[in-house]
Amino acid sequence: MNRIEREKLVVRQMIAIYCHRHHAHNDNILCDDCLDLLNYAHRRLDYCPKGNGKSSCRKCEIHCYSTANREKIRAVMKYVGPRMIFIHPWSAIRHLITEFC
Ligand SMILES: [Zn+2]
Repeated sequence: MNRIEREKLVVRQMIAIYCHRHHAHNDNILCDDCLDLLNYAHRRLDYCPKGNGKSSCRKCEIHCYSTANREKIRAVMKYVGPRMIFIHPWSAIRHLITEFC
């Protein structure tokens, strides 16, 4: 699993946990808003021109995340981040958290 794939997986799990706790309709189905956010995040990871070799999104000159979506991602990570430590090694989520929080 490369870095992009791993980050997609982590983002999906984060949004799923957040949605379940905050919007919770069904265990395995995201609400429309969260589905949008997930698709957006995945699309941005796919399109990132820095690809797997990029050092940091923060240093990247191309700001992929729009302000609105960045606020949402930030809320998700702030809430879910500390809880993810019990699911993933810290190194797997550190990059995502430092990028958006
Ligand atoms: Zn939701």
